Amino acid sequence: APRPRSAEGATPAMAQWFAAKAQHPDGFVFFRMGDFYELFFEDAHRAAAILGLAVAHRGEHRGEPIPMAGVPVHALDGYLARLIRQGHRVAICEQRETPEQAKARRAPTIRREIVRVVTPGTVTEEALLENGRPSWLLALALVEDELGAAWTDLSTGAFACEALPRAELPALLARLDPAEVLAPEALLDHPALRAMAERLTPAEPARDPAARVAGFFGVASLDGFGSFAPPEIAACAVALDYLRRTQGPEGGEAVAPRLRPPEAQGGRETLRMDAATRRSLEILRSERGDTRNCLFAAVDRTLTAAGCRELAARLAAPLTSLAAISARHDAVQFLLEAPPLRATLRGCLKGAPDMARALARLALDRFAPRDLAALRDGLARAETMEAALAGAAPLPPLLEAARIALRPGGSPRAELARALAAELPARLEDGNLVAPGYDGELDALKRLRDDARGAIAAMQMQLAQDWGVASLKIRHHQQFGFLAEMPAAAGEKLLRSPPAALDGTPRAPVHRQTMANAHRFTCAALAELDRRLAAAGEQAQKREVAVARHLRALCLEAGGAIDTAAAALAEIDVHAGSAEMAAGGAWCRPELTERADFAIRQARHPVVEAALARARGPAFVPNDADLSAGRRLCLLTGPNMAGKSTFLRQNAMLVVLAQSGLFVPAAEARIGLVDRLFSRVGAADDIAGGRSTFMVEMTETAAILNQATARSLVVLDEVGRGTATWDGLAIAWAVLEALHDRIRCRTVFATHFHELTALSGKLPELQVAHMQVREHRGEVVFQHLVAPGAAEKSWGLHVARLGGVPRAVVARAGAVLAALEARAAGLEPLAEELPLFSAATPAPAPAAFPAATPLGPQPDGAWHEVLDALDALDPDALSPREALAELYRLKMLH
Ligand code: ADP
Repeated sequence: APRPRSAEGATPAMAQWFAAKAQHPDGFVFFRMGDFYELFFEDAHRAAAILGLAVAHRGEHRGEPIPMAGVPVHALDGYLARLIRQGHRVAICEQRETPEQAKARRAPTIRREIVRVVTPGTVTEEALLENGRPSWLLALALVEDELGAAWTDLSTGAFACEALPRAELPALLARLDPAEVLAPEALLDHPALRAMAERLTPAEPARDPAARVAGFFGVASLDGFGSFAPPEIAACAVALDYLRRTQGPEGGEAVAPRLRPPEAQGGRETLRMDAATRRSLEILRSERGDTRNCLFAAVDRTLTAAGCRELAARLAAPLTSLAAISARHDAVQFLLEAPPLRATLRGCLKGAPDMARALARLALDRFAPRDLAALRDGLARAETMEAALAGAAPLPPLLEAARIALRPGGSPRAELARALAAELPARLEDGNLVAPGYDGELDALKRLRDDARGAIAAMQMQLAQDWGVASLKIRHHQQFGFLAEMPAAAGEKLLRSPPAALDGTPRAPVHRQTMANAHRFTCAALAELDRRLAAAGEQAQKREVAVARHLRALCLEAGGAIDTAAAALAEIDVHAGSAEMAAGGAWCRPELTERADFAIRQARHPVVEAALARARGPAFVPNDADLSAGRRLCLLTGPNMAGKSTFLRQNAMLVVLAQSGLFVPAAEARIGLVDRLFSRVGAADDIAGGRSTFMVEMTETAAILNQATARSLVVLDEVGRGTATWDGLAIAWAVLEALHDRIRCRTVFATHFHELTALSGKLPELQVAHMQVREHRGEVVFQHLVAPGAAEKSWGLHVARLGGVPRAVVARAGAVLAALEARAAGLEPLAEELPLFSAATPAPAPAAFPAATPLGPQPDGAWHEVLDALDALDPDALSPREALAELYRLKMLH
């Protein structure tokens, strides 16, 4: 497609287009021309392909026709949505004056200006947003190699920031699932960011960030908002800079988005989950990416979009503070035990408007009358809910706080109720938004306008009589205003013999137009009336807009209070939803403790359970789990399809639900607070990253061994399955030992290596369990029941080390492997080697079979070499003489 380099010789309008395009070379420019947004040159071709538009040509540029495609102004949202969802950016270039204004200042064309750049992370239109999900714009900044992140949802005003180690970036991305990421040059190559290239926008660091942020919020210093680390401030400034550049005309009147002051997340501890864990637990999306078959969907009983977003945010960031979690559980329990109150609240919530998003659109001056109505109705519902809660006092603290927030002082509800008409127009310009009786001036203007209408009717009668044409009709024409129209015959008669008596009076007919079968006339009186009517109409409309702007200002003034009320509404929605879910049966309030408890009775996997119910399949079989001290590790065996993964995931999901402050699908649950949750269940393919399944598995296992603590919960499926039996088993063995001896976290470990069950006697905290399977008439029947006790191989070490599994674990796996292979060769029975794997302090072992190396600080120098040399050894391939030579060499290395 032609892409002319120079605007030289362009018409004035096209010159404006070139200027706009130069500002946004990478995005589409939507160039307003009357009732259309036009796209030109290569934009036209690209957009036409994506949106299915026809490409036409308009005029010429340097002797070539200019390709052009257009979208009608009223259909803008739909087209924008499609482009934005594909990761495109769109600069909206608006007409900023009328043709008359341009003519008056003798400009060659209408003034146009980019008023806004629409990007995936800055949309606020309802049509472009997912209702129940936050839409995060994430800004990243590096300060002396320290990473700062700030994220904001322009559509609700939420704003938060955090300083974090670089290694935690993938986990943060997984937690927020941002719509758009602003990243500095130095981070653009980060693999986690490269994987989301279409949502990535390069961004320069902001100059003087602290002043920028303070300036945005109109404060002298940020101290009042809390304490921030320099990378946090830097990231906040990047976000604000970007908003300033995309959300208003450059240097024009400021339409600032309404953001709450940034909330530093540093002090707020949340349950840590890495990207792989979130994927595996399918918290907000299923592994396939849909939002239907995920944990969120299975537990969501909220009734409002804001409640839905709040629930999603809670599930994405469960808490680790006992007090904070218990407070949430208290609220749920209270509502569970008060069905009538819950019903009243949910009655108000159902269909309640999205106040946060309405308020954001008001702030950005992109509002429609329904946004004002949303605040009126939302606040009205909040007041009803407040009354219901007040009647149920005493309330638990969270509900009491919400109650107070629901009836904010200075609420504009009453004013909005008086001001807004019963039936609201779709757009501000449509008029009739203000209720009669609210604004005296507007009413007077409207009366004038309506009087003029009556005057037109009177004039029609008068002229019909004066001109002697009974069929005369006064009609309004787009171009000429009001004209008196009559059939051709009557028109000709009037032309031939105009009424002489009217000569020189304001009602003397003046011929305007001859049509095929009609004539149009005017007269001075009609023209005057036309002017009056137009002026009254215009003034009434202006006044109407002025009233709307006054209401907008009123709402923004009360913005903080409305925000709090909206947040309280969302919070009640979440609690009431969880209570509703629990009322449906078999959900319980989890008991959380500060110890390493984990005792669950009759628990279910909410997603599988829901899927079985939908499919009218067999009922879900509940299972118990007990990982309390003394039996922290559960080794679970069983064939494929027996229900291992389901059991693993359900235990991890219970932790997410419980620490999010929700009730859990179990008869009873006592859970010691978990600091980090690791789930490795399901496909571990990394198609985008190009790593093998086994490599991914080892990288993820390494993450667990390097990060899990005694307070963590780990659920692991089939470590070592990606490789052949012997080294797979060896790695699984060594990992299990490390979890048991060193990390001492609560663990459920599923495996198909039945050999591992031999460890049960050696690892005191290991319990062995299996999935019950029965044979029935020669067929296998899965019971999906976890029962105590035991039921009835490749090149992996190499990949394990590449993946970052601690060297000592790899070495240990190597030793185990050697032993297993030795057993395979019939050298020694495995049972006799088992003492070596016990938790007891390892005895010095022969070089070819090293003892478990103390984990933790990694051995250095010579040790590496010894270990590497050991790794390279293949005992089976050595002759006795070569083995002796190797031993000498190893001794030299040491
Ligand atoms: P595995 O990991 O052992 O291969 P899964 O956990 O994937 O097995 O379970 C296989 C299927 O069995 C699931 O899709 C589900 O339909 C069913 N299932 C699993 N656990 C249960 C259960 N507790 N009750 C009923 N059905 C279950």
